[in-house]
Amino acid sequence: MSTSVRSLGHFIGGRAVAGASGRDGPVYDPAAGEITARVAFASADETRTAIAAAAAAFPAWSATPALQRARVLFRFRELLERHADELAAAITAEHGKVRDDARGEVIRGLEVVEFACGIPQLLKGDYSDAVGRDIDSWSLRQPVGVCAGITPFNFPAMVPLWMFPVAIACGNSFVLKPSEKDPGCPLRLAELLAEAGLPPGVFNVINGDREAVDTLLTDPRVEAVSFVGSTPVAEHVYRTASAHGKRVQALGGAKNHLIVMPDADLAAAAHALTGAAYGSAGERCMAISVAVAVGDAGDRLVAALRPELAAIRVAPGSDPDADMGPLVTREHLERVLSYVEAGVAEGAELLVDGRGRHPAGPGFFLGPTLFDHVTPAMRIWREEIFGPVLLIARVPDLAAALALVAGHEFGNGAAIFTRDGGAAREFCRQVTAGMVGVNVPIPVPMAFHSFGGWKRSLFGPLHVHGPDGVRFYTRLKTVTARWPTGATGGGFTMPTMR
Ligand code: NAD
Repeated sequence: MSTSVRSLGHFIGGRAVAGASGRDGPVYDPAAGEITARVAFASADETRTAIAAAAAAFPAWSATPALQRARVLFRFRELLERHADELAAAITAEHGKVRDDARGEVIRGLEVVEFACGIPQLLKGDYSDAVGRDIDSWSLRQPVGVCAGITPFNFPAMVPLWMFPVAIACGNSFVLKPSEKDPGCPLRLAELLAEAGLPPGVFNVINGDREAVDTLLTDPRVEAVSFVGSTPVAEHVYRTASAHGKRVQALGGAKNHLIVMPDADLAAAAHALTGAAYGSAGERCMAISVAVAVGDAGDRLVAALRPELAAIRVAPGSDPDADMGPLVTREHLERVLSYVEAGVAEGAELLVDGRGRHPAGPGFFLGPTLFDHVTPAMRIWREEIFGPVLLIARVPDLAAALALVAGHEFGNGAAIFTRDGGAAREFCRQVTAGMVGVNVPIPVPMAFHSFGGWKRSLFGPLHVHGPDGVRFYTRLKTVTARWPTGATGGGFTMPTMR
């Protein structure tokens, strides 16, 4: 057991606040299997205090010119870059992912801040001159008010950064409820925002569980809710917050397929697939969890994958030579292990067994695991495993591959590896997923595009960050104004014709 177990509280009204509910939960170092901190679970009253702080900060912040709001974000961006290594270390310590993955997520989040720094341009409306005699019309976007963000464990920096930079750039105030499994980094982000000059109350962090979440979903002062997490909770968040009159974007689970055509560069596909399936121990919503081998690609793909898997070094994320760290908690490890057992029981062929292929000790490790001949009838295909377990399904042609993807309840990402432009085009047009890659295994949109899936991977019409993020965090207002201009009646007259 660690000698010191930290206590983590909340960040409300510009300062750290200790938890007062008497309820808390453990935060682990997953590589050591030890508790390193306890995080407070906010009561409904404590959550309402954070909402009140955000509501109090909203009028002045929304009245602050967009250019000045952007300047705070420019300073925040510099602080993120300066503290990237420190933030990455904090992520690795609580999540377990290797340091490069942790740093990568900080940089992906920083890019959303860079996008939000362009808010004076992004908020520009449309203008129509002289829509009628003496009448002009224009539109503008105004902030919605207090926004809430509820985020998952797997990207404790990046997913909050998908949300709040855009929300506060638009002039809103924000209450973040991060995952209780790795709350250290989100609290640090709040401190850095304060250091950047964000006024107290514009950004608040409330730690906790369902009690805090349900308070955010039902409090009348909260206008908009962004959620990222598992599909059952996404659906609960969408239904509850919508029923309370809020706008909601709720991103859920995933089962991402990568189609390998027989003409693909199999070595490149296997290498890309290995990173996409086992990076961050498979705990990514855009991880590839099913490789769909078309035609005779299957055996050649397996042959190319075997040495790739054998080369993966499983070790604590803080080890500079580690390729893959542990899973986030023992509970989650046991859930993933239960899927490995289910796959064997259902008759899938276990080509590589990751059980035992990892450092000894109480850490929450599982080595890379590979199943072949997986079919849609199997639970391991139907359900999200969210661990280092890759499935191979074999199909005769592209149409069958597309049908397999279409048959899944989730539609987050999908990719194809091929040398055939016609097949790639057909795939892009037909595939039922929100984010699509061609010879790119993890097609995560850049910050200036928007991120989101289809089907039960997203509840609500708008994706996160990029243009959809600006739409989500603003209300559209359209003005039609008549100002009589005298003798000319507002008509346009060339000076020489007077
Ligand atoms: P989770 O759904 O368990 O938790 C997400 C958030 O909801 C956390 O803040 C948690 O405290 C809260 N929560 C949990 N149970 C709740 C309940 N019953 N009522 C109210 N709030 C509750 O998800 P997780 O395990 O932290 O994250 C992994 C999941 O997130 C995976 O399913 C993954 O696919 C998904 N995810 C999706 C995306 C995406 O973009 N679609 C991105 C990242 C993660």
